[in-house]
Formats: sequence, C-alpha cells, structure tokens
Amino acid sequence: EISLSRVSKSYGSVEVIRDVSLDIESGELVVFLGPSGSGKTTLLRMIAGLESIDKGMLTIGGVRCETLPPGKRGVAMVFQNYALYPHMTVAENMAFGLRNVGVPSDEIRARIAEAARILEIESLLDRRPSQLSGGQRQRVAIGRAIVKQPKAFLFDEPLSNLDAALRSRTRVELAELHQRLRSTMIYVTHDQVEAMTLADRIVILNDCGIEQVGTPMEVYSRPTSRFVATFVGSPA
Ligand code: ATP
Repeated sequence: EISLSRVSKSYGSVEVIRDVSLDIESGELVVFLGPSGSGKTTLLRMIAGLESIDKGMLTIGGVRCETLPPGKRGVAMVFQNYALYPHMTVAENMAFGLRNVGVPSDEIRARIAEAARILEIESLLDRRPSQLSGGQRQRVAIGRAIVKQPKAFLFDEPLSNLDAALRSRTRVELAELHQRLRSTMIYVTHDQVEAMTLADRIVILNDCGIEQVGTPMEVYSRPTSRFVATFVGSPA
C-alpha cells in the first residue's frame, strides 16, 4: 500500500533521511520509533507530502507520489498539536477539508455524523476548540482525518500532549479504531511502550536510517543491534 524505495532527504548540507526503503501493507499499523532527531517526523511528513523528497521513490496505493501535493495522496495526518482552526466549530473543522475538494453537503453531514458517533463526540459538534479539553481536541483531530476516508492515517506523536492516564486510555481507543476501520496507519512516537502495545510492526529509526523492522516481539526478543536492544529494553 505504501512503499518507500531508497528515499533520502537533506536540509541544506545536513542529511536527515538516508536511503530508506520500506513496504507497508494495506491495513497494517506501523509505528516509527526512535530517539529525538532520528528522522521519524521528517519521514512521516515526506509520506504526507509536507516535506519534499530529494531522492528515491514513494508510492501510495500503487500511485507514484513524490511530486503529488498532500491533498492528492489519499492520506490524512493527525498532528501532535491537533492543528484545529480556532475560529471554527468542531463540525466546521471536520467539514473544511471536504468542502474544499467538492464533497456534497449531505455527504459531508453524513460523514461527520458517522465519525462523531465512532469517536463519541456528538455532543461537541457545535463547540469551538477553545471550549474542549485536550483529549476532546485529540478526538476532533482524529475525526477530521476519518471524514476524509483516507487510504492511510498518519499520526505524529498524537498522544504526547495528554496526561498519562488519558494517554493510555486513548491508546486503547486508537487500537480499537484501527480494528474497526482496518485502515493503514503509521504512528510516530519515541515512546517504547506505545510502540509495543500498538504496532503490528515497529520500524526503529536511528541516525537518519532504519535500524530494524519487525513485530514488537521480534525487535524485543531478537534485536539485531546493541542500539535496538538498549532502546527497546531487551533483556541482556
Ligand atoms: P523528535 O522525536 O524530536 O520529534 P524526530 O525523530 O521526529 O525527532 P525529525 O523531526 O524528523 O526527528 O528531525 C530529524 C533531523 O532533521 C533533526 O536533526 C532536526 O534537527 C532536523 N530538521 C527537522 N526539520 C528541519 C528543518 N525544517 N530544517 C533543518 N533541519 C531540520
């Protein structure tokens, strides 16, 4: 479904992604895990179309995407800071991206109602973001992605602004959402526990490249480098 082939990127003379190749299957939940500065967010933003790709090939659903604008890639991103429009209601926030691409009004209403039901935010649709808690904003941000009916969801550390209790609850809900929608998801985090509990496969990034790819069990029990063993806390 999403395929990266020998992808690289530099900011000026500083290389941040080096020669990364990766295939993500349809319906898979893949976590990009790595320390700060390892390039997780940059790689996600390259898939989303928010950062350019210097070298290499990206296909999403079989379509070459290196030069396609973000709106044409069939992916929806959920940001760490939620990026909601403060002057719009929740419903308007969810409708905005759809109206732009010409989805009819009654279809927009139906999609919002469905997403609101899934996320249990029906009672919040007329509020503005400033009248919501952090957890509620988080749901709205996810709702805004769901209504786009994307081929893939891209999450950039979506839980990092929530307190510990809410974070673990939302993590469970995200896993349920994945079960329910069966859509492809990429999830960026530096939190090992989050990665272990959510991922079908974990992609461990370090120093601009991929260190190891495997199921949570594989990377934990059979780390291929000392870095991975230390990072995921494998037994010595
Ligand atoms: P974190 O967990 O801290 O978010 P990350 O693994 O997501 O880290 P990136 O944000 O992808 O890492 O950054 C990778 C490298 O690219 C870092 O060294 C960062 O300083 C650099 N970088 C990111 N964005 C830019 C930019 N716009 N211009 C220059 N350098 C950048």
